[in-house]
Amino acid sequence: MGTFMASYSDLANRPVLTQPTYEAGRPIEVVAREFGLDPASVIKLASNENPLGPSPLGLAAARKALEVCHLYPDGGCTFLREKLAAKWALTPAHFIVGNGSNEVMILLAQAFLRPGDEVVFGEQAFIVYKLATLLFGATPVPVPMPGYRHDLKALRAAVTPKTRIVFLASPNNPTGGTDAPADILALAASLPEDVIFCLDEAYAEYLDASADLRPLMQSGRKVVVSRTFSKAYGLAGLRVGYLMGSPEVVALLNRVRQPFNVNLPALAAAEAALDDEAFVRRTREVNSAGIAQLKAGLARLGCEVIDGHANFLAARIPEAEQAFTKLQRAGVIVRPLAGYGMKGWLRLTVGTAAQNERLLAELAKL
Ligand SMILES: *Cc1c(COP(=O)(O)O)cnc(C)c1O
Repeated sequence: MGTFMASYSDLANRPVLTQPTYEAGRPIEVVAREFGLDPASVIKLASNENPLGPSPLGLAAARKALEVCHLYPDGGCTFLREKLAAKWALTPAHFIVGNGSNEVMILLAQAFLRPGDEVVFGEQAFIVYKLATLLFGATPVPVPMPGYRHDLKALRAAVTPKTRIVFLASPNNPTGGTDAPADILALAASLPEDVIFCLDEAYAEYLDASADLRPLMQSGRKVVVSRTFSKAYGLAGLRVGYLMGSPEVVALLNRVRQPFNVNLPALAAAEAALDDEAFVRRTREVNSAGIAQLKAGLARLGCEVIDGHANFLAARIPEAEQAFTKLQRAGVIVRPLAGYGMKGWLRLTVGTAAQNERLLAELAKL
């Protein structure tokens, strides 16, 4: 080994050196090995996945697509974008598909952010907004969330001439709080014309009503909406999400994305799952029953809960960090929220009735 003057770190782009890494929910196999458990006995209520499994239509299509996986996927996602256009009464040019909606948010940041730009979002908003901002050297502007709820007036007030993007998730992850569609529309309409408003609707399928930004989009407002197949459609492991926006913004994002960013089985699954209305309906039913079950159980245990309508609840649990470990030892994986500045809180994904019961029983033992 010679003596070298420069390390890789010396050569790296500056933002990379301080970029935080995303902390994902712990996988079943990893927890099973660590605690000496049978993986089949472990339940994961840590990543807001669908407890009913994948959409059956999506799964069948993915299996079939694997037979021709020697072929590249359709990089343009032609058929999925046509289906999305029909679903939303827009054109295929209004849609870009990503490797999860995570990717479309990174594309947005890559296309529009540079050092000196500011990005506004709630202090306990989905962490990807902060990661995407920092990755391109821009400045995060976290806005306090009283009672862990978005304060839309405060978000608006945090916008300055340097602001390039405002991110809002409704329902928000990890808090679960939802904003009224009329309030979201008012915020979007109030922003200066050089600010992009990105509404993250990862959990919109679980709501009775969500904000319709299409009229604002059609009127030329800089609003984009992201959605995902990871939650209500049960396809998290395949990684498909999309962004809806004006053809102009979609064309710019297409310049930035990789040629085949969405893989072949994923694309086939998403196309088929979009028609699986029965599965999404059942998902919603099981979820609202599960939310009621968890809220009642947590109330019996005297745990504070943030009211939410997504497929998870944030709950204040005594000694949450130790509880997280003890639950894993009992074969139940949840998510600690200290990384979100919510020390003492755990995020609990809604499972099947039996899984929820098991979670509540283990919490009661603590
Ligand atoms: C889960 C989630 C997403 C979706 O991520 P994918 O990359 O599509 O799997 C996006 N936003 C929020 C707020 C989420 O919780």
